[in-house]
Amino acid sequence: MSNLEKFENLGLSEKSLLAISKKGFEEPSPIQKLTIPLLLKNEKDIVGQAQTGTGKTAAFGLPIVDLIMENTGKIQALVITPTRELAVQVAEEIGSFRGGRDIGILPVYGGQSYDTQLRRLKKGVEIIVGTPGRLIDHLKRGTLKLNNLKFMVLDEADEMLNMGFIEDIELILSKTPKEKRVLLFSATMPTRIVQLARKFMGEYEVIKVQTEQLTVNLTDQIYFEVRTSDKFEALCRIIDVEKDFYALVFCRTKLKTDHLANALIDRGYDAASLHGDISQAQRERILNQFKKKRVNILVATDVAARGIDVIELSHVINYSLPQDPESYVHRIGRTGRAGKQGTAITFITPSEYRKLMNIQRVSKSEIRKESLPKVKQLIKLKRKRIVQEISEIIVAGKYNDNMQVAIDLLAEYPADQVIASLLTHAYKDEFSVDKYTEIHEPGTKRKNTRRKPDISPDQEGITRLFIALGRKDKVTPQKLVTMIQEGANVDSHLIGDIEIYDNFSFTNVPFEEAGHIIETFRNKGRDKKPLIVEAKGKSESTPKKDFHSDRSHKGHTRRSGSDRAHRKKRY
Ligand code: AMP
Repeated sequence: MSNLEKFENLGLSEKSLLAISKKGFEEPSPIQKLTIPLLLKNEKDIVGQAQTGTGKTAAFGLPIVDLIMENTGKIQALVITPTRELAVQVAEEIGSFRGGRDIGILPVYGGQSYDTQLRRLKKGVEIIVGTPGRLIDHLKRGTLKLNNLKFMVLDEADEMLNMGFIEDIELILSKTPKEKRVLLFSATMPTRIVQLARKFMGEYEVIKVQTEQLTVNLTDQIYFEVRTSDKFEALCRIIDVEKDFYALVFCRTKLKTDHLANALIDRGYDAASLHGDISQAQRERILNQFKKKRVNILVATDVAARGIDVIELSHVINYSLPQDPESYVHRIGRTGRAGKQGTAITFITPSEYRKLMNIQRVSKSEIRKESLPKVKQLIKLKRKRIVQEISEIIVAGKYNDNMQVAIDLLAEYPADQVIASLLTHAYKDEFSVDKYTEIHEPGTKRKNTRRKPDISPDQEGITRLFIALGRKDKVTPQKLVTMIQEGANVDSHLIGDIEIYDNFSFTNVPFEEAGHIIETFRNKGRDKKPLIVEAKGKSESTPKKDFHSDRSHKGHTRRSGSDRAHRKKRY
């Protein structure tokens, strides 16, 4: 049997492997190990029992991208999702697996203008990701031709059942050719879903990721709800509040670990990153520094953190949510060991709440919500700590050879001035409020408190940005998204409507993110000029957006807890 621990052994094409490595995935998730070879190999349909966040989009997306023909203009795969938010995310994720192949992917959902969708449909695409209502509208208008369909994916089938979409799905299924493969993914398998599978699927294989019997040790478990763009600031506050912070910080990808470790180092912390691309010699060197506490923050991927046997960690931080309850338990099991009290902290964005609740349920753990420390509180605490540390030195009389300097200074200046100057010398801006940026309650509108560039939202809260890079600079939409996402820590799905010209480009972002992006790229252009500024005048192509669910008029809402607007990306 081949070793399924590696993407290279699953039978995927070179182009897909390249795309995976660019995304920074190190190892296939359990559902990917089971689904990818099966999809690539045989002709059976698949029923996969998997939660969101387990990597199921890649589990079906990677083989589909490998198996369909590029540049045909014919729809060969249709993915149905319960919400527009998920449709956009799934389309985006599948798009990232193309690895340069000419495969058109179109998200189709209610609220978006028909014109845009019709234009793209007419031009021809290979993959459609859509919500049931809008798909049916297109089928009725005759604008969606499914006669070349090879794959039909039902994503989050139980959620579609809950939202009352099941008849719509049956209707869509009835309009598809007989010869196709059907893949159904669902977190739970209620009878109605099983009936659906029996009625519309051929011979199918059931894939279930075995849930380990999970037990969590006595680690104190906390979660904070923060926006993606505030996560870094939140982490800094947590580090600053602790006297002896010694932690493993988990990120999902190699890129993120590097990015986060560098940002921490820039802010003055002793951090390092550990991931699969790091050589064995370098890994040992980093681990050695971590064990000796020369580096007290190790940012790692799940794979790279395996085999690290450090027992006195004060914290495990889930900077990105783990992919499943098993990983959660493995991650947090690294603190609170050897009878020591440890703390596990998880950051979630509002849309991840449901995933966290699932982790809590399956791992039978108790994760309580807390609020991040306020800046004033933090500074008070740090001052108290300094006073305590200095008192300890005085009591122990450990002045080294500094007594003479003290005597000389006191002969010339008043004592309070001498001490304050010494503190400034030793701690620089450690007690300054300006060291911290404001963290916003998720769901509230961001006040742009960092320096205020002169920006304006349109009626829908969107700002069009001008980027001083174009085709001549070899810019692609993907590169622009990555640059803004990683540079300014902004969710990729908030960056949309990219237009690239020879010398410059445009993109839309929510108004609340614009100020921060402009500020981040203020001196990153040629000759330290601004790389990104607000576009003057609105672009004609800025589409009208409506971010409600397909079925919102019927009162069906997704229980994700997120009402944050998700912006469309143009593909
Ligand atoms: P999904 O369950 O498909 O919604 O995926 C959840 C998140 O996990 C997405 O951000 C994926 O890009 C990411 N992901 C999927 N597979 C892997 C993997 N093998 N390693 C790391 N991240 C992954």
